[in-house]
Amino acid sequence: MITDLHTHTTASDGSLTPTELLEAAVENDISLLAITDHDTLSGYRAAVEQDVPSDLRIIPGIELSTRWHTIGVHVLGLDVGPASEAMRTAEQYQQNARRERAMRIARRLDKLTVPNLFERAAELAGDAQIGRPHFARILVAEGVVKDAKAAFAKYLGAGKLGDIRNGWADLSTVVTWIRASGGVAVLAHPARYGLTKTRLAALIADFASVGGNAIEVLSGAQDPTTTQQLARLCARHDLLASHGSDFHTPGQPWAQLGRMPALPAGLRSVSTVLNSV
Ligand code: AMP
Ligand code: MN
Ligand code: MN
Ligand code: MN
Repeated sequence: MITDLHTHTTASDGSLTPTELLEAAVENDISLLAITDHDTLSGYRAAVEQDVPSDLRIIPGIELSTRWHTIGVHVLGLDVGPASEAMRTAEQYQQNARRERAMRIARRLDKLTVPNLFERAAELAGDAQIGRPHFARILVAEGVVKDAKAAFAKYLGAGKLGDIRNGWADLSTVVTWIRASGGVAVLAHPARYGLTKTRLAALIADFASVGGNAIEVLSGAQDPTTTQQLARLCARHDLLASHGSDFHTPGQPWAQLGRMPALPAGLRSVSTVLNSV
């Protein structure tokens, strides 16, 4: 059974519409798919309004932005209650935070003298959750940087001018929202925060202590040493193991829909606790 528990649509910073994502899932023989857009369930809501093929199960998911000490961290909610009070609160809080953050990013990047930066990023985002990828696209279009990677490396990535983290709800709040809505809280791509081994172990311990349920032992294409390290931390804290591609757009070899190695032996997969699976 091919599963993918971490994917994006045009409701956040993915390039496929919810309908196109479902088509791609079918083409890739996926039978269990979580749609986990940044801070919104609207991609999931649009997807399940379609005629979903009977052999494809869609899990309502969300990727909530939060912070841990000074770094930005992502927590997935899998199998959350889309209509629950907790999710409505979470979406509203985070979407306000996103918009305010976008205004602050634009102000901070004033020195780049790109006219109407906020308005243009907001227009580009349209109905989608506005995020740093929208700013990156404008900086590329303006010739400030040559590609999105350079935009993150110089202006938007961790520790750079446009990296603003203090508006998000804190770690314990996002985990509480997810669990109160009936969902499972999963620490997303733990190896991608640039933490030392000691700090990574501390993050996972804190995540477990505030009620986190699982970590992504596999995120997209990841080196086997990292996977082994995450598997050990997962087992040590008695957490469930999740795996997802973090698919955003076709053609990225490091994040292809449904393409991941198997979870290391000895771990319990988070899919065993997802409702209706
Ligand atoms: P935001 O949700 O506004 O904090 O933006 C974070 C998103 O930017 C991530 O989910 C990725 O999709 C994207 N991203 C992060 N780092 C990079 C990078 N170095 N190059 C391109 N996109 C990136
Ligand atoms: Mn993203
Ligand atoms: Mn993420
Ligand atoms: Mn993601």
